[in-house]
This record gives sequence, C-alpha cells and structure tokens, in this order.
Amino acid sequence: MRALGGSSRLWGGGCVPLARMDMAARDWVPCSGWPIDFDELATWWTGARELLGIDARHGIGDGSFGNAHFDHALPLRDDLTADRVCFISPVMFESQYRKLLEKSANITLLFHATATELAAAPGAGHVQAATIRNLDGRRGSVRARHYVLATGGIENARLLLASDSVAPQGLGNRHDQVGRHFMDHPRCLAGQVVDGDLWTLLRPYNSDDQRRRLPLYRELSLSERVQRERRLLNARARPYPVAGAVPTGLQALRELRATFRPSPAGPGTSIDVEYKVQRALAVGLPEPSPPVLASGRRRARLMLSVGMNAGHVAGALARRLRRRPLHGCQRVDLMTYFEQSPNRDSRITLSDSRDALGMRKVRVDWRLTDLDYASYRTSASLLGEETARCCGGRFEPAPWVRDPMVQPDVVGTAHHIGTTRMSLRPEDGVVDPDCRVHGIDNLHVAGSSVFPTGGWAFPTFTIVALAMRLADRLRTGLEIVGL
Ligand SMILES: Cc1cc2nc3c(=O)[nH]c(=O)nc-3n(C[C@H](O)[C@H](O)[C@H](O)COP(=O)(O)OP(=O)(O)OC[C@H]3O[C@@H](n4cnc5c(N)ncnc54)[C@H](O)[C@@H]3O)c2cc1C
Repeated sequence: MRALGGSSRLWGGGCVPLARMDMAARDWVPCSGWPIDFDELATWWTGARELLGIDARHGIGDGSFGNAHFDHALPLRDDLTADRVCFISPVMFESQYRKLLEKSANITLLFHATATELAAAPGAGHVQAATIRNLDGRRGSVRARHYVLATGGIENARLLLASDSVAPQGLGNRHDQVGRHFMDHPRCLAGQVVDGDLWTLLRPYNSDDQRRRLPLYRELSLSERVQRERRLLNARARPYPVAGAVPTGLQALRELRATFRPSPAGPGTSIDVEYKVQRALAVGLPEPSPPVLASGRRRARLMLSVGMNAGHVAGALARRLRRRPLHGCQRVDLMTYFEQSPNRDSRITLSDSRDALGMRKVRVDWRLTDLDYASYRTSASLLGEETARCCGGRFEPAPWVRDPMVQPDVVGTAHHIGTTRMSLRPEDGVVDPDCRVHGIDNLHVAGSSVFPTGGWAFPTFTIVALAMRLADRLRTGLEIVGL
C-alpha cells in the first residue's frame, strides 16, 4: 500500500518468530540456509517485540512465543505436529509512530514523492542520489551518504531493476539475481474433517474466542522431526467451522442486530479500499454476513420472527454460555499454509508498459516447483489425518491431495519474500549478511525481500528485527552522524 505505514495499514497483526529450522540449510530445500545465525537474529527479537507492542511477559522461543496458557489442547503426536504460539500485534505503524517521526529532529517525511530511480555513480558501485517524482510532474532528488531501500517485497526489486541509467541490467544486478526467488506463503484448502467431536478440534484454534481474552493464539504446525524425516517444507493448518443452516430465529436476530450497526464507508474511502483488499486476500475463507439496510418495517418483521422462534435464540444463548458454536457445525474445513522453496525462475521483472510516473510496471511470474507441490500434498495429508484422529473424525482430502495430476488451487497471502535475497557470495543473492547490496558501498535493503527462505511465519516480526539490526549497524558500524 502506497502510504506512510505501507501494507501494515492493512495487516492482520499476526506475529511469530521464525523457527531455527526455517533458517537452516536443509539438503532437501535448494538454496536454503540463511548466511546469518539464528541466535544472532534472535538477539533482535526483544526489540521487535517491544516495537510491535507485544507483552514482554511472553518469552520468544524457536518458532513460537512462550509463557502462554491455553485452556484446551489437542492430544497431538509431537513427532508429527506442534502448536506454535502467535501474537496479534495492536500496532498500526502509521498511527503509532507518525508523531514520533514528525517530532524527530533528524527525520523528514516526504509525501507524494515516489522514488523512481537510484542514480548511481559511474561504475555503479555507489548511489549518488534518489530521483523522486510526483503526479503533478515535479521532480527532485534526495542526496545522502547512505540509502536504505525499504519499499516492500516486490517494489524493492522493481526500484533496483528500474535504476538502469548506469548499470543497464539494474543496480546490484551484476549476477542477474535481482527479482529472482520470489516467494509467498501459498494457501490452499486441504480438505475437510467430518464426523467426530468437531468442537474438540475447533476449540484450541478458535482465535476469535481466544483474542477476546488475550491477543495470543495457536497455529498447528508440522514438527521439526517430520519435516526432516519426510523432507518437507514447513506448513501449518487452520480449522474453520462450516455451519449447517442457521436456525430461523437466530438468523433473524443477527439481521436485526445488523440493522442497528452503522453502514460501512462508501466506495472510494480508505476503509472501503482496505475492506476490498482484505476480502481479496480472504478468497476461499468463510464469508462474513453482508451489511443489511435498516428500515422500520423490516425491523418489525425481524422482531416478529425472533419472537416466534424464541427457542432457537434460547438454544444459541445456552451454547454461548458453554462457549460452544452458536449452532451446529456440519464439518471443518482445513486450510493449509505453506513455506515455498526458493526458485530462481519465480521472479519479478519489469514490463514495457509504464505507470503514471513513467516508471516501468512490475511483471510478477510466481512459480511453484514440483518439490513444493509434493511437499504440500504430504503435509496436507499429515495435518488432515492428525486433526481427524485427535477428534475421532474422518479426514476427506481435497482432490489435489490424493491425485498428483490435480493442481492445487493455491493463492498467495501478501507475504512477498526473497527478491533481494541475502547471500554470502554476490553470485547467489543481492545483499550481504549486513543487508548491504553486494558491490555497492552505500545501499542497504530492509524488508522480507532479503529473506533467503521464509518458513510459514508471518514476515513482519522478522522484518522489524532485521530493520533494527540494520539501524544499529548503520549507526555504530558506519558512524552516521546524527542517527
Ligand atoms: C491484507 C494484508 C494482511 C497482512 N497480514 C499480515 C500479518 O498478519 N502478519 C504479518 O507479519 N504480515 C502481514 N501482512 C504483510 C505485511 O503487511 C508486510 O509484510 C509488511 O507491511 C511489509 O513491510 P515493508 O515496510 O517491508 O513494506 P510495505 O509495507 O510494502 O511498505 C513499503 C513502503 O514503501 C513505500 N514505497 C513503495 N514504493 C515506493 C517508491 N518507489 N518511492 C517511495 N516510497 C515507496 C510505500 O508507500 C510504503 O510506505 C499482510 C499484508 C496484507 C496486504
């Protein structure tokens, strides 16, 4: 999102640290292994926790927050699966930090100033200026001793590729690495759990219920052992209840309540845009009830229906008091979320068409490999069978899980990873372990584009930890005056 705060203005706030294994070199995952140590990155987690408003009482472990108490748990086989604890950050970066940035003596915020090129010195080993433009045709340049590119997982690669006045192949792209290894966290419906005590399965992962009490929740994840033994990419699963028909009285009550809520903002407002993006990303997830218009006659009709079906409402109330779903759950849909393996052919390039500022548009060629698909099938099957076993139910896999000839219908989750990956050698990536672009003395990159691999973990917690690490290096190592 092009605004102060970026996509964090839309984000769900989900935070979890990467697991040690997510960063390790795994012989079954090509190009895996971060060039920085898990324990070194972990020293920045407490800072990230504070910046993201996460309660310091919750320790940070290997792929999970700690010190969390939950009332219910599935009897999981720990050689197969593990619960990982995540935190919902309350921080929206723009509203939380805007004043601090505005008050700061050494920070100037420039709005409506899109960087269209990083202008390099002859030889392309040094950035001389950032060219900026706005939609009214104004141009300018920003000069600094050091530059940090932090424009998001796709735009970081775009701006480097677009900076081609001195280096025709793009800045930092001597080895044709910029934009490659583009990854997301693919999501796909693994199948359904039917029969059995479905509420036993749902209860531990009912994050809405949990969040009302504490902003912590669990994700059911593959164990480290099974990943190693079965040579799998990391994965998690989330059970969603699929309700049978809503009883008439309860439906009438819901519609009646909706008539008293303020109607959503009109088209074109930022709330409307955010809502649309959220909906776009939630394809395949359970639908929220649509807003209903209020009118006196309609309300009267709904009230009558509630009264005539008071038994339905009383039944729902009794279930709520027992912290059970308000009406019967027909089946549980199991949504699976996966790690993607690095693949140099999955990439961001520039198209020939240009945007309103004359900048070449992005072309996204997101590709999954046979390893990805094979791993997703095994993981979906493992997670499905295990959840069904835990509730005495039956797992009915989706066709793609059973049949390798059927392509899974995966969608991304707006976690853009890997396009300026970190590497020891310039031949293997774009930035070095200090996040400095190989071969350029004053250009660094922040964001998930530097992740060599991304596990299944929501990326922002790691982005923040790496950003704090980079800020520290710039301040102390490079002795930047005034920081
Ligand atoms: C709907 C949604 C839900 C999400 N939920 C979660 C979640 O629960 N947990 C999680 O960890 N992550 C989540 N994410 C992902 C998360 O938002 C991103 O990982 C995070 O915002 C990336 O931060 P960033 O600063 O690297 O990039 P961005 O947030 O993309 O910010 C980039 C900034 O650069 C600016 N910019 C871009 N190009 C230029 C240019 N050429 N010139 C000048 N400025 C420019 C933009 O205006 C923006 O301010 C979600 C994303 C979406 C869209």
